[in-house]
Amino acid sequence: MRKVPNRILLTEDRMPEQWYNVRADMPSQHDPYINPATMKPATMEDLTPVFAEELCKQEFTLERYVDIPGEVMDYYRLYRPSPVIRAYNLEKYLDTPARIYYKYEGSNTSGSHKLNSAVPQVFYNKKQGIERITTETGAGQWGTALSMACAHFDMPLRVYMVKISYMQKPYRKEIMETYGANVFPSPSDTTNIGRSILEKDPENTGSLGTAISEAVEMAVTTPNTRYSLGSVLNQVLLHQSIIGIESKIQLEMVDEYPDYVIGCSGGGSNLGGLMSAFMQDRLTGKAKPYFIAVEPSACPSFTKGRYAYDFCDVGHITPLAKMYTIGSGFIPPNIHAGGLRYHGMSPILSKLYHDGILDEARAVGQKDVFDAAVLFARHEAILPAPESSHAIKAAIDVALECRERGEAKTILFGLSGNGSFDLAAYASYNRGEMENYAPSDEEIAMSLKGIPDLQGI
Ligand SMILES: *Cc1c(COP(=O)(O)O)cnc(C)c1O
Repeated sequence: MRKVPNRILLTEDRMPEQWYNVRADMPSQHDPYINPATMKPATMEDLTPVFAEELCKQEFTLERYVDIPGEVMDYYRLYRPSPVIRAYNLEKYLDTPARIYYKYEGSNTSGSHKLNSAVPQVFYNKKQGIERITTETGAGQWGTALSMACAHFDMPLRVYMVKISYMQKPYRKEIMETYGANVFPSPSDTTNIGRSILEKDPENTGSLGTAISEAVEMAVTTPNTRYSLGSVLNQVLLHQSIIGIESKIQLEMVDEYPDYVIGCSGGGSNLGGLMSAFMQDRLTGKAKPYFIAVEPSACPSFTKGRYAYDFCDVGHITPLAKMYTIGSGFIPPNIHAGGLRYHGMSPILSKLYHDGILDEARAVGQKDVFDAAVLFARHEAILPAPESSHAIKAAIDVALECRERGEAKTILFGLSGNGSFDLAAYASYNRGEMENYAPSDEEIAMSLKGIPDLQGI
């Protein structure tokens, strides 16, 4: 007999109606964003031409709880609460005394947690009377989530999609267009930055940093238009806190509390979200779960990067953030976990890691990640996203350590998305073509040299 059900489901009436802002309980705050034009700390006035006003406020706020607007709750109820699932089959296969739980965010059409922030971002823009939103997307998850939210709130959307993905992942583009978005391959001839890149290199296949520059330029030069970003920012971590708040209630329902909280981190939003309620316990001395961030060895911001001010985009038009970065000029290799190919990291998570509160960051190789993904898929009946599979890999490793030590620990990891759109990655794995990849120390050193020298700011 199983003591707890496989799927721990929350009823709608127990859904949290407030987001939790971890900044309220942090012993010290991350250094301020810097406006690259003035080299002074960025103000509300610097950010309001780029983001909706309410979102700018959320970027700065130290309020502990923020009410989730009713319109956002109504949309959340279409696909939330998401389940926490006990990985009984995986536990049995690993022969571990550890109990493994995962929070599954991949069951909505966009296939990931990104919808949790897309919905409030579009809502606040709509409420302000903004008439158009621009954004960038790499592999397409964020663009898909934002198109769904824009369709719901009747908001026109322009997506700059990294050209290589635009060509290689046509289905993501089709979903975005189905939801009414206008999708442009980036670099494009619709912006100064795009044109100048194409002039020098007509064959340029784009990068996330370039697409961000194009989307921001378009937003600030078009009347009544704002830009929207799907990760890294404080506002995004705030919205994603719903993941952790729900998880904590769900585990309480079966008398559990995690010893380990594990998530993959690209810009840090799903991990920041999953950690939220548990981090509150940690910061207020109620409990001491151990937090692990997992990143690809191909783009190791935490484990090989530097804690420094850096630009968030290639065009250097966005504010500078103090974060773990591998350099804004770093062109990450074309690994399949597209959502983890960002050079920087959430300033909040960077600060927590720097202060030793986010306990550990691990970098894992792509082939090892897919070994874990396939093992998980065969035992747990979900085909995981390549990004999420980084968390699976670490959770399996921790469960095996528990077996070695004979410790019946509780593990919670974030299954941030499903892999149904990542079949090219699985195909490469199945053909035996996938390899672990890590940039050389020289490549990393070269890229770190490009980080601006802003000591003393
Ligand atoms: C985008 C994405 C990520 C990485 O982004 P974070 O902001 O670090 O969460 C992870 N998993 C999936 C499925 C994604 O789509």
